[in-house]
Amino acid sequence: MNIVGDLRARTRGEVLEPHDAGYQAARAAYNALSTGQPACIFRPADVPDIVAAVRWAGEVDLPIGVRGGGHSVAGHSSPNDALLVDLSRWRGAAVDPVACTAEALAGSRLMDLDAATAAYTLAAPSGTFIDTGIGGLTLTGGISWLLASQGFACDALIGARMVTVDGDVIDVDDEHEPELLWGLRGGGGNFGIVTHLRYALTPVQRMYGGALRFRGDGIRDVIMRAFEIEATAPDELVLAIVAWRGDDGAPGISVNFAWRGDPNAGAAAVRALTDHPALFESDVKAMGWLQQQAQYEPIPFGLRQYWKGHLVGKLDETLADALIAAAADAGGESFCLVELIHGVAHRIPEASAAFGGRAAVANVTALAIWDDAESDERQIAWARRMADSVAHLSLRGGGYLNYPELDQTAARVAAAFPSQTWDRLRQLKRQLDPANRLRFNANVPPADLG
Ligand SMILES: Cc1cc2nc3c(=O)[nH]c(=O)nc-3n(C[C@H](O)[C@H](O)[C@H](O)COP(=O)(O)OP(=O)(O)OC[C@H]3O[C@@H](n4cnc5c(N)ncnc54)[C@H](O)[C@@H]3O)c2cc1C
Repeated sequence: MNIVGDLRARTRGEVLEPHDAGYQAARAAYNALSTGQPACIFRPADVPDIVAAVRWAGEVDLPIGVRGGGHSVAGHSSPNDALLVDLSRWRGAAVDPVACTAEALAGSRLMDLDAATAAYTLAAPSGTFIDTGIGGLTLTGGISWLLASQGFACDALIGARMVTVDGDVIDVDDEHEPELLWGLRGGGGNFGIVTHLRYALTPVQRMYGGALRFRGDGIRDVIMRAFEIEATAPDELVLAIVAWRGDDGAPGISVNFAWRGDPNAGAAAVRALTDHPALFESDVKAMGWLQQQAQYEPIPFGLRQYWKGHLVGKLDETLADALIAAAADAGGESFCLVELIHGVAHRIPEASAAFGGRAAVANVTALAIWDDAESDERQIAWARRMADSVAHLSLRGGGYLNYPELDQTAARVAAAFPSQTWDRLRQLKRQLDPANRLRFNANVPPADLG
């Protein structure tokens, strides 16, 4: 019996090896530039199956990767020469409307969680693209249209079930495993395989928002107005700026926004933008939570992508200039994204979650997206140049770990956390995964022994 045959014998789930039909489709990464080939892919039937699989991996000395929604732009969920535990079919969420909580299977997409919670006019802060996986997104932060009123997705994480690399099953909550809950709130997939995630929900009756599009000479002024609105924005408002290159080759700006509550108050909050003469298109409406979540069209699997950016501590003219310069030079489907951060996201105490970007006022990222291999060099250079052009505003030199560049360095991962948080995460890693078997992630190396 080959070694993978032994995994088959011990488990009930599906096991795929490179020669099996279905392997290539199962290993395919979101990003066509990431070509990792797992030694085998395992789709567990249940939690005991995962326990058996990680114990098997320990015996045969294979590192372990995890896939939820599969949206890692750095290809973390298509790991080379590893056991890949594929949870992508573990989808669905159950809501307790009295406790205002939801428990979701860890392979769920945002749409699964949203559909379950919206049935009770409740919502969890998660992300803005409904096909993204909740697993990677929540464990590494989570920026959504509820950011300013509820904080990051990881702030709403109140419990989890997790299988350690040794095969122990741990139920995590603030009472029983407070340190691990802290680590799961932003420390990524470093500590174990999370099978269930429990969220605190919030009532969301109605939303108002959409996209305002601007072009011409006034776009620098539009960006500065958006920064001014952000400086005093109430918690109901969340803003994102997108900088793109139009068909005529000239740079353009969209300000995408969501207002939680009364549409009239929402319209008043962005009046300085809707009154601006550079506005050429307004696609704004009142809507429910599910419509809000469907505002962004999914970006399909299989394109070539390279993202790079910074969590910044300041919004100023140099950022506006950098956005316009990068947009003017963008190719393919590439664009720059600025997700503005204020409100509850800042007011939640730093110590309650490992997430390292709480002090940032924005997540600024260049998203290079294209489809022909000939453009690889140019596109990657564009994203790197854009990131470099805003590095002087960076909190600590790190970016948002959910938007990782393909070749992210260990130093850039460490820079995403304050040093005390980093040390604490490394201690937790040493406790739970001292051999760093879960290393296909924004990796936290175990604290040194001794
Ligand atoms: C088109 C697109 C839109 C996006 N929009 C947003 C957005 O609006 N807001 C935002 O915050 N982010 C957004 N992201 C980034 C997103 O948060 C990350 O890509 C995230 O990794 C997606 O989670 P996933 O489960 O799909 O990832 P996967 O690729 O499945 O997993 C990535 C890594 O997360 C870890 N992981 C995942 N699940 C588990 C688990 N159950 N147990 C342990 N570790 C696990 C593993 O280390 C894994 O390698 C977007 C990404 C894309 C591609």
